[in-house]
Amino acid sequence: MKLPPDLHMHTPLCRHATGEPTDYARRAAELGLAEIGFSDHSPMRDDDFDDWRMRFDQLDEYVEKVRRAQKDFPQLTIRLALEIDYLPGHEDWIRELAARHPWDYLIGSVHYVSDTWAIDNPHKLSEWKHRDTFEVWSAYFERLTLAADSGLFEIIGHADLPKKFGHRPTRDCAPLYEKFLNAAKARGCAIELNTAGLRKDCREIYPSRDIVQLAFQKGVPITFGSDAHAPTEVGMNFAEAWQLARAVGYSEALTFAGRKRQNLKLD
Ligand SMILES: [Zn+2]
Ligand SMILES: [Zn+2]
Repeated sequence: MKLPPDLHMHTPLCRHATGEPTDYARRAAELGLAEIGFSDHSPMRDDDFDDWRMRFDQLDEYVEKVRRAQKDFPQLTIRLALEIDYLPGHEDWIRELAARHPWDYLIGSVHYVSDTWAIDNPHKLSEWKHRDTFEVWSAYFERLTLAADSGLFEIIGHADLPKKFGHRPTRDCAPLYEKFLNAAKARGCAIELNTAGLRKDCREIYPSRDIVQLAFQKGVPITFGSDAHAPTEVGMNFAEAWQLARAVGYSEALTFAGRKRQNLKLD
């Protein structure tokens, strides 16, 4: 089994990750990965929006750090990307970011279900107590569907993030998944198998097997990401993610160069 590219990795510029891109690349080389991609948390138009992303004036520095890793590890294919927060109304800002550098791909992620609450923020965990779990999941998937439908992203990140701390609705969420995956299929948008969920309370890959299964049935392509926030997390649990993909029927995954898709055989 050859490990697929790890297309979701961070840098210290986001203020909650450690290790330089070169350190992540070294780890990837040790593991025998042929390809990786950096997709750090993109800046917001307003630098004070929150405190877990790079500032706008650090964007060039971010690109430089990735370029340095490319020079240090010429044997690796290293992609330049961003993980961009999708919030309704931010589309023009996302287009501005997209035009700023020659990105290989953009991951669209929903962390915010309102302008002030990022559901995965451990410092805002108490907010869950005041909310109905199903309503949070509904609001989340509504935004995720808009993100897929926006056509702004090649990949949708960690598609069932609300399970992170173990908040799972008792009501059936299948209609939410359906709508989201139909939008992804229509726009040719991939979903990522993100192994960070295995390191969180939910102890499960994002998204869950039933979503991955449905994605396969609908013909939605996949990518792989560790969501590494430290070099030791690069490629973590990729064998498990690979097995999940194969088990539901996938024989191919995607990577991207210059925002154009490339098919990879999962062998
Ligand atoms: Zn992060
Ligand atoms: Zn994320």
